[in-house]
Amino acid sequence: MALIVQKFGGTSVANPEKIRNVAKRVLKKAREGNQMVVVLSAMAGETNRFVNLADQMQKIPDPREMDVLLSSGEQVTIALFAMAVKDEGGDAISFLGDQVKIITDTMHTKARIRNIDTERINKHLAQGKIVVVAGFQGVTDNEDITTLGRGGSDTTAVALAAALKADQCEIFTDVEGVYTTDPNICASARKIDRISYDEMLELASLGAKVLDIRSVGLAKKFKVPVHVRSTFTETEGTWVVEEEKKMESMLVSGVTYSKNEARITVSRVPDTPGIASKLFTPISDTGIIIDMIIQNTRAGDLTDMTFTVPRTDYVRAMKIVEEIAAEIGAESVNGSDDIAKISIVGVGMRNHAGIATTMFHVLAREGINIMMISTSEIKVSCVIAEKYTELAVRALHDAFEMGKENQPVDETGQ
Ligand code: ADP
Ligand code: ASP
Ligand code: MG
Repeated sequence: MALIVQKFGGTSVANPEKIRNVAKRVLKKAREGNQMVVVLSAMAGETNRFVNLADQMQKIPDPREMDVLLSSGEQVTIALFAMAVKDEGGDAISFLGDQVKIITDTMHTKARIRNIDTERINKHLAQGKIVVVAGFQGVTDNEDITTLGRGGSDTTAVALAAALKADQCEIFTDVEGVYTTDPNICASARKIDRISYDEMLELASLGAKVLDIRSVGLAKKFKVPVHVRSTFTETEGTWVVEEEKKMESMLVSGVTYSKNEARITVSRVPDTPGIASKLFTPISDTGIIIDMIIQNTRAGDLTDMTFTVPRTDYVRAMKIVEEIAAEIGAESVNGSDDIAKISIVGVGMRNHAGIATTMFHVLAREGINIMMISTSEIKVSCVIAEKYTELAVRALHDAFEMGKENQPVDETGQ
């Protein structure tokens, strides 16, 4: 008998018929003699609908109340799912994050899981029930409801798998696994059979939303092998596991894009020591993650600072920056949220020169202007106008021949 955690995303539970199909699939696995813990997302589109409603109520919605609202979508699916299981002759019980004590910190809308009390779950598993847990939510020590950030149900699933010492953690979604790029925008995208935690972390951090980055971090920390696969087929998906020798031969493993980006430029800032700290500390204190930063020097001891923040935090970040800019004597602040970040990722890049220049060349050939660049050992990212996202992804995927099974190996020939 195995203990299996299965997570189903929004499109997998988008309507009553789909919820029933998922219930049947889980029940089949339970009837084979497995203990089943199921984590569900809200029905597709629901969380976005809540965000939209909140935006109509308050310019910058109160984070605590936002979490009360956002967490409600998952409450609907877990209850309906438990009903469907019972209707199919099985037994199930649903729980919200606070009922199974998924304890988080207090960072509303992007909380981190601190601890999970598995007692109640284990009790019901022992009684032969399918335990259904709401994804994406938790509770603080003060009993305030929190959410884990968009896409956070993956994190709930992996955290539960780690806490329960589950034998398997399966993430069911609307594609058959992790691909070399988003298969919904690039027809030649190829499914990756096995990928290392580190490479998946990089893909997820750069926008491959098939797995939430925090779920990959937890999987790596607790050595949980994660199987990403389709809800709608039986096909074997992608295994996210520890790095294996065979994997090292990949030169570029993926192309990612993120449209959750916005740019802020502070112009003509006095160029004195401590200015970056004065500007960025108040932003990061609110939990907003600053990504790329560019500083240009101007004549006359003045400088311009340009940086990116998640588009979802743009309005909040802009408000903070405008206040600080006035304090530090900057001339002006401007920004835009119609940008995207395109990245190429691969551990094979460590030993290979010229990858970045190929990327710049491909974007130039397509007439796409690069606004910002950032590189690390295993990735190159460029900020471009959002409207060119799909074009850039396809052109880069083709240029690096990622659709082909055997990519060029790295220079060490490993
Ligand atoms: P769920 O609701 O099941 O959590 P998501 O929409 O969060 O599903 O994630 C699945 C989607 O991720 C796919 O439909 C696909 O468009 C997108 N995606 C982006 N990059 C990749 C990639 N490299 N491989 C697979 N899917 C990707
Ligand atoms: N429902 C949440 C969202 O849309 C969590 C998730 O789907 O993982 O972000
Ligand atoms: Mg998701």
